[in-house]
Amino acid sequence: MPTGDLNPNLRPLRVLVIEDYEEDAILLLRHLARAGYDVDSRRIETADELRAALDEPAPWDLALADYTLPSFGARDALSIIQKRGADIPFIIVSGTIDEVSAVSAMRAGAHDYVLKGHIDRLLPAIERELADAERRHERVRTEAELRLAQRRFSATFNQAAVGMAHTAPDGRFILVNQRLAECLNASLDELLTMRLRAFLMPEEDAIDEELYAELLAGKRSGYRVERTIVCSDGSTLPAQLTVSMLVHDGDIPGVPTTTVLWVVEDISARKVAEQETADLMQRLINSERLAAAGRMANTLAHEINNPLEALTNIFFLLQDQPLTPQAQELLAIGARELERVGHITRSTLSFYRKVPGRTLNLRAMLDEVVQLFATRAAQHHVTLHTRYAPGIESVHYDPSLRQVFANLVANALEAMSTAGGQVHIRARVLADTVSVLIADNGHGIDAANLACVFEPFFTTKGERGTGLGLWVTRGMVEEQRGRLQLRSSTGHDRHGTAIRITLPVVSAPAADPIIS
Ligand code: ADP
Ligand code: MG
Repeated sequence: MPTGDLNPNLRPLRVLVIEDYEEDAILLLRHLARAGYDVDSRRIETADELRAALDEPAPWDLALADYTLPSFGARDALSIIQKRGADIPFIIVSGTIDEVSAVSAMRAGAHDYVLKGHIDRLLPAIERELADAERRHERVRTEAELRLAQRRFSATFNQAAVGMAHTAPDGRFILVNQRLAECLNASLDELLTMRLRAFLMPEEDAIDEELYAELLAGKRSGYRVERTIVCSDGSTLPAQLTVSMLVHDGDIPGVPTTTVLWVVEDISARKVAEQETADLMQRLINSERLAAAGRMANTLAHEINNPLEALTNIFFLLQDQPLTPQAQELLAIGARELERVGHITRSTLSFYRKVPGRTLNLRAMLDEVVQLFATRAAQHHVTLHTRYAPGIESVHYDPSLRQVFANLVANALEAMSTAGGQVHIRARVLADTVSVLIADNGHGIDAANLACVFEPFFTTKGERGTGLGLWVTRGMVEEQRGRLQLRSSTGHDRHGTAIRITLPVVSAPAADPIIS
C-alpha cells in the first residue's frame, strides 16, 4: 500500500516550528500536509533547540514562528537565524500580534505574518516566500559561480606563459595580460590606449589581412599565423598568433558586441632551434658528401697513378722520336696536361698542397686553358674571345690554379646549345688585385639552382656531370684568399653566365717559375 512518503506528487519541506503549544504546531503541520507537502519538522521552544536544529547538515526551507513565547519569541529566533547567515523564509503565525509589532518584525527581517484566525492566508504566503527564497538562492549561487569564473579567468589570463589580449575589431586593446605587456615592452596602461597592429611589422600585413577580414565577416572561427612583433623599444621577436573571435549575445552598453582574442607566443627559441637543426642537417649532408668525395678521390688517385706513370714515361720517350714541329708542340701540351693529372691525383680532390717555388704567370695559364679547349670549342661552334690587360704576365700563381679556369671554361662550353655561342675570357690587374672574368651566352642557371651549384655533387648534367667543378673551383680560389662572384640569367633574350674571380696580387713572383 503506498505511503505518503512515496507519493511523487508530495513536495518535501523542512520546517522549523517555533511554537510552545504542541497542538498549535500539529495543526499547522497538518495544514501543510493537506496542501501536499511532505513535511519534516522540528518544534522549537528554546534558543538552544533552534541552534541545534540549525547545526543539522540539511538546510531548512521554512520557519513558522509564534510571536510570543514565554521565554523565547519570534524576534529572538529571527536574530539567531540571521546571525547564522541562513536565508530561511520566516513567517510569523500568531493569534495575538498587533499591527505595530508585525511591522517592526517585518522590518527586522521577517518575511510575512499570518494571524491564526486567518490560517487560509498561510499557504499562499508560504508558496510565495518559498519561490522568493529559491530566486534569492539562485542569485547567490550564480553570483558565486560568476566570481569563481572571474577568478579562474583572471588567474589563467594573467599567469599564462603566453601573451594574451582581447581587442575590439579595430585592434584597440581591451584587455592585455602581463606576459604580453612584458613581451611588447610596454606598460598595461600604455597598451590600453593603443592598437595591437601597432606592434606587428607592417611589411608582413599581407600575411593575414585576408584571414582577419574573413574572421570579422564570420567566415572563419579563427586562424594561426607567424608574424614578427616590433616591441616598443624597436626590437623584434618572431611570434605565433592564434586569433579567434568572441561574439557577445547580450547588448552591454559601452562594450563592443565582438571581441577579438589573441594568443601571442614567442617562438624565437623555436626558430633558433629550427635553424640549428637545419644547419646541422646541412652540415651532416655536406660532411657525408665530403667524405664520399674524399673516398672517391682517394680511390681514383690510386687507380690512376699506375697508368699515369706509364704514360709519363711514354711521353718522355716520345720526345726523342723524330716528330714534326706541330707534333712536338702537341706533345709538349700533352706532357703538361699529364703533369696536371698527376698533380690532381697526388693531391687528391681535396685542396692542392702548394709546391713552393713553382709558379706560373697568369697569361700563360689562361693561354694554356684556351689552347686546351680550342678544338672542342671549334667543334661546337663556340668562339673563345680573350682580352688581357697589360701586366697580367707579371702576376704569378701556383700552377694548380689552371684547374680553376679550366673548370669554368668547360662549364661555359657545356652550357651552349648546338648552335654554338661566345665565351669571353678577360683579365686585368687593378692595384693589388687581379680580376679574371669568364662569361658565356649559354643557357644560364635557373634561379632555383643558384644556391646549390657550389655544393659538391650538384649537377644538372646527369651522368655527364660530376658536380665537383664549381665546388673545387671555389675551394681553390678561397685558398688563394680570392673571391668568386657569379651572375647568371636565363631570360629569353638575354641569357648566360658570368663568373668573376678576384685574386690578391702576390707581390713578388716566387723564384724559379716553370714558365715565365
Ligand atoms: P658539373 O659541370 O659536373 O655539372 P659543376 O660544379 O661544374 O658540375 O657545375 C654545377 C652545375 O652548375 C652544372 O651542372 C650546371 O647546372 C651549373 N653551371 C655551372 N656553370 C654553368 C654555366 N656556365 N652555365 C650554365 N650552368 C652552369
Ligand atoms: Mg663542370
